[in-house]
Amino acid sequence: MLRRYDHAQVSEYWQHVWEREGVYETPDDPDDPTYVLGMFPYTSGSLHMGHIRNYAITDAHARYRRMAGDDVLHPMGWDAFGLPAENAAYERDTDPESWTRSCIDRMRDDLAEMGFGYDWTREITTCDPEYYRWNQWLFTRFHDAGLVEYDAATVNWCPDCETVLADAQVETGVAAETQRGDGEAVEHHDAAYAHAGGVCWRCGTDVTQRDLDQWFFTITDYADELYDGLDDLDGWPDGVRDSQRNWIGRQEGAEVAFDIDGHGAVSAFTTRLDTVYGATYLALAPGHDLVAELAERDDAVADYVESVAGTDDAGLSGVETDLTATNPYTGAEIPVYVAAYVLDDVGTGAVMGVPAHNERDFAVAADHDLPLTQVVEPVDGSGTPLPDDPYTDDGMLTDSGEYDGLASTAARDRLLEHDAAAEATTYRLRDWLISRQRYWGTPIPIVHCEDCGAVPVPDEDLPVELPEYVQTTGNPLDAAEEWKQTECPDCGGDATRETDTMDTFVDSSWYFLRFLSPHSEAQSASEQASGETASHFDEAPFEQATADEWLPVDVYVGGEEHAVLHLLYIRFFTRALADLDLLDRREPVERLINQGTVLHSGKKMSKSAGNAVAPHEYGAETTRLFVLSAAHPAQDFEWTVKDVSTAYDFQQDCYEMVRDFADQRQRRRREQAADPVRTESAPHDAYLEREIDRTIAAVTEEYDRFRFHRVVGELQRFARLLRRYATYEPPYLFAYSRGLRVLTKLLAPIAPYLAEELWHLLEEDGLVVEADWPEALRDVSNYRVERQLVRTTLADVRDITDVVDITDPEAIDIVVAAEWKYDAYRIAQAADPGDAIVGAIMGEERIQAHGDAAADYAADLADRSAGLEPVVDGERELDVLSQAAWLFEDEFDADVTVRRATEDDELAKKAKPNKPAIHIS
Ligand SMILES: [Zn+2]
Ligand SMILES: [Zn+2]
Repeated sequence: MLRRYDHAQVSEYWQHVWEREGVYETPDDPDDPTYVLGMFPYTSGSLHMGHIRNYAITDAHARYRRMAGDDVLHPMGWDAFGLPAENAAYERDTDPESWTRSCIDRMRDDLAEMGFGYDWTREITTCDPEYYRWNQWLFTRFHDAGLVEYDAATVNWCPDCETVLADAQVETGVAAETQRGDGEAVEHHDAAYAHAGGVCWRCGTDVTQRDLDQWFFTITDYADELYDGLDDLDGWPDGVRDSQRNWIGRQEGAEVAFDIDGHGAVSAFTTRLDTVYGATYLALAPGHDLVAELAERDDAVADYVESVAGTDDAGLSGVETDLTATNPYTGAEIPVYVAAYVLDDVGTGAVMGVPAHNERDFAVAADHDLPLTQVVEPVDGSGTPLPDDPYTDDGMLTDSGEYDGLASTAARDRLLEHDAAAEATTYRLRDWLISRQRYWGTPIPIVHCEDCGAVPVPDEDLPVELPEYVQTTGNPLDAAEEWKQTECPDCGGDATRETDTMDTFVDSSWYFLRFLSPHSEAQSASEQASGETASHFDEAPFEQATADEWLPVDVYVGGEEHAVLHLLYIRFFTRALADLDLLDRREPVERLINQGTVLHSGKKMSKSAGNAVAPHEYGAETTRLFVLSAAHPAQDFEWTVKDVSTAYDFQQDCYEMVRDFADQRQRRRREQAADPVRTESAPHDAYLEREIDRTIAAVTEEYDRFRFHRVVGELQRFARLLRRYATYEPPYLFAYSRGLRVLTKLLAPIAPYLAEELWHLLEEDGLVVEADWPEALRDVSNYRVERQLVRTTLADVRDITDVVDITDPEAIDIVVAAEWKYDAYRIAQAADPGDAIVGAIMGEERIQAHGDAAADYAADLADRSAGLEPVVDGERELDVLSQAAWLFEDEFDADVTVRRATEDDELAKKAKPNKPAIHIS
């Protein structure tokens, strides 16, 4: 037997036993499926503290639910494709695959060492052809369903990484700006699609623009559904839902046709049609078709367009053109500007400028001396900040012809009836650009044929595997000449393969489904040729019935940086798959938890900041216990050595206590001479038993709420109580051993190695990881009130001894109130505001019989009736305090009596429910 608990000496053994017993394998035929998932790691080389925190949360929850009787799926895999592997391979003169595989081996060992229990039979690796063939299969399904587009697009280009970047991979510094209430969609500079400016998220190089033919998933087809569905995601943090709303950026409004002499109508989008009478100019995006025409004959326009191309800091600059537009409502001729703040591809690329009622337009008007025309005024007749500032609130229309006097909302409806206006909705969300010009990703399964165009690779020819890696400055697939040359699947003629690979976010958009059927395979070409009719689902990346049974994922845990990409893509994929009849569910995740950040010296731990602590530096299990005990999962916390050693000490305390218990048992057996234990129960044993029940109730509740830090707090208190109990008097075997068993079980989800060791020392059967979750033996629904009663009574005794300066009390009398006071208390508690409480109480004969005392108490209750706390009944209060008497005896070294108040008792007058009278002598 170890004298001290040493995780390093036992971890390999328990890993071996867990694996041998297959304890983490998911049952095929679940009764009560619970899917617990942590965002799978990117294979970057080793685990960092953020991973540990993420996976400690899922592991604790998975273990808790498994012990509670659920069939739990808790899988792990590897997000293995991506540019960093190419960079790492380049630096180390190896290839991305070898480097990635070595990372995976190291990280798998790291995870095992931490004691995380995964069903490794379901491990998936996205760079395996068996995995990415399904990316390709899904791409062709999406293609057939019209969810794929191939378009020339101006894209963000990082000259250093030589790749296209998605919007969100461009750091503009304004990405966090949220939409303004009065704003039009075009105002969101962070919405820019291929809007130059900003730097590459990976390398920090200035991003430029290029035009390339690119592959897209048309996620915008689902914009409305993705937006509306957020309302029902009650299990998601509000912050993530808000981020997705902003990212989708749905804006309802109108398009208004402004006639431009000689050029026809130009459509402008607005959310404030009620201000249309106040439009004093029209602004066009530099990329607007009309601007290209203008630039050919107007040097000022041409110069302006050139000067703002590729910049993000054009601010509110603009250039006046020689055109005028007609406001269709007023007939007024207004000047036309070209201005970079209007984005080409958001809304219509044109906006009406209403300086009196819009912040930005107000600023533009000030620069260009454009008139302010107020057309909305406050309904209550109060003043506006005009002309010093715009008035941007809704109000009542004025100077708006036949619409005068209408409220803004009503006006927006009525103005739509005009021929020049039509209802319109715009979105910030753009289609998902999935093309990457890099090697380490899934080849897009397309063949380009001169005659047939872009032809999808047939299923039987999947996967299109990556060619051998070669170092090149550009795209290695483009350089793989032999791989590139192929036949057209349609006409058999010479053709070339698509050389773009998929954004790795495609891999992670459906991996949670693959975990459900990790071994579903495609039929080989020969099986298909043999004419066996296979059902549709034999050829799918997952079995639908299984997926429908397990989805949605019950708990998904990961970093909040994924609020808009990954977490939007999984919602899109799930819907697209449902529409392909591959799935019934339309939302993938029920409950989402974003774990907070681990800070060190006040900053986020990171290698580059030089403040990282390696997960094993202080022992793997101590570290996981510490990260769970430090804070609520969603909160940030600071890494301190002191708090880590508290976690370590707690492990040792638990171990010592159980080891001493096991030692004594061995001695009893060996020497036949017993250490003193009792087999008869005393009142303080009842206290322990009751506290065991209360601890089970409290800890279970905290596990349900993912408040592992409170679990640890409860268990530390409980361990201290067990220790105190065992030293107070020789323990009553039944109660004490149950206490140790319960402690061990409650610890098991957060300290699995330690718990197995304790379970073994306790000579219990089987493994604690597979044990049943403990249950309270008696009703503990009032556990909080009971604990509070003991706590405050102890505090009161301390106060009294302090105040009257009794250093060595001989006797402590604790007197519980007479039963009639509980009756009165309940009547007051049940009363509604405004009820005549005194009357109701005194109407009860058995209370009234106590005369003045009853009247005084009734008046007191009536005064306090709004703030009456829950109490247990008189019987229970007497029990609870009698059982707790030993705590008073132990602390104050005095004789303690706990009794019910009697009629002629001086103390009885003072005693109230939940507040016994105390006499100390
Ligand atoms: Zn870059
Ligand atoms: Zn062809």
